[in-house]
Amino acid sequence: MKIGVIGFQGDVEEHINILKILSENGRNIEPLRVRNKDQLREVSAIIIPGGESTTIYKLIKEYGIYEDIVDSVKHGKPLMGTCAGIILASSKTNDTRVEGMGLLDIEIERNAYGRQGESFIDNVDIKDIGNYMAVFIRAPVIKSVNHGEIMAYQAGKPIMVRDGNVIGLTFHPELTDDTRVHEYFIRMIGGEGGTSSGTSEEKVTV
Ligand code: GLN
Repeated sequence: MKIGVIGFQGDVEEHINILKILSENGRNIEPLRVRNKDQLREVSAIIIPGGESTTIYKLIKEYGIYEDIVDSVKHGKPLMGTCAGIILASSKTNDTRVEGMGLLDIEIERNAYGRQGESFIDNVDIKDIGNYMAVFIRAPVIKSVNHGEIMAYQAGKPIMVRDGNVIGLTFHPELTDDTRVHEYFIRMIGGEGGTSSGTSEEKVTV
């Protein structure tokens, strides 16, 4: 099973390295850097990495795969967005330069932690994963979750949301040597757990 990492800018190699480690440890997966429609068709799941969301957005548009990503995820292809990736997956951003793909019905604010908290590490508790050291780098804040399940909080704010085949994180599992979030995503590709799309959950506003 091929897992595609949208490969224009940001933590592309870092995601690929984690997937390679899992593959060497016996998981039946192969990472692929994705930059065009053919590669997108080849993969069973998609990761949008952390990085600079305005740049990733611009390049996804320029290379003409924005609509293809949206369509394939709406048709059930699993997606994980980390940091800049969750900004792109969201339904509403506070920056006109990044049009959210509407794949996770959340509202998000870029660079919303003050200077002091721009980058930090914190121990968080993730549903179905457990205790986890999360790395935040100029992270966005999830302002509201209109649909889906909040899987983790940090300082009272949601930091990880799953809705059916889509998962978004405001932190960077690709920048640690803890592989559990990627393992969770691989289980998700296999159809495990989570809310099926269509179930409505409580709307949460932060
Ligand atoms: N600050 C970045 C943005 O808004 C996201 C942070 C990241 O991915 N490290 O695009």
